Amino acid sequence: MLAQRGSKQAGLAFGSAGPFAATCAGLVLIVEDERPMQALLQSVLADHGYRTVLATHGAEGLTQASAHNPDLVLLDLGLPDIDGVEVAGRLREWMEVPIVIISARGQEGDKIAALDAGANDYVTKPFAAGELLARIRVWMRQVSRADGDSVDPIVEVGNLRIDLANRHVTAAGRPVHLTPTEYKLFATLMRSAGRVITHRQLLEATWGPDYAGETQYIRVFMGQLRRKLEDTPARPRYLVTEPGVGYRVRVE
Ligand code: CA
Repeated sequence: MLAQRGSKQAGLAFGSAGPFAATCAGLVLIVEDERPMQALLQSVLADHGYRTVLATHGAEGLTQASAHNPDLVLLDLGLPDIDGVEVAGRLREWMEVPIVIISARGQEGDKIAALDAGANDYVTKPFAAGELLARIRVWMRQVSRADGDSVDPIVEVGNLRIDLANRHVTAAGRPVHLTPTEYKLFATLMRSAGRVITHRQLLEATWGPDYAGETQYIRVFMGQLRRKLEDTPARPRYLVTEPGVGYRVRVE
């Protein structure tokens, strides 16, 4: 396996400022122990212009992250040595890098623990390549925005628009009045458009840390937001539920 990795990655040892940086879509560190999944991820990413570095264990993932300074980490939760949740937490202690969890069904608890430990998003196996690439693009855009250092107070997703500077919300061009709590919740979601936000993160951002367990609050206020902002509140187009985890503003 070492030989295979070495040969496949002979051109990858330049780091993100290397000679391919101008044309490369970004460097992705894959931390995954299953060979078929490694091969799938490497080929999908290579086909879309990403460079990859592979680690098959959690400890190796931490080492590779410090050696290569990747633009994004794809992190499997079930690793042979250190648990993926712990890898996420340890990466987050010293790196800002976006971390996207790759989880299997039945790992819902671990997935939420990883998100709360600092991971940014997840895909559940089996996933479609398009879904994975969409997640990665959202995060790569985030990275380039952070580099550019300019913050746009206006966020638009489909026909939803929020002006964070003026606290003004429109849906399909029509002004929408939100209560202060609805606004806080909606602003938190729109600031992170495209990304999953856990119940705990939404509760803390909207009501404060003492309310982290009150998931029914979120359900009530999400219902109100959908009624005000969605054409068909029962089948939301933008304010979607991530079952058991939280919510996401879907970017089309
Ligand atoms: Ca695994």
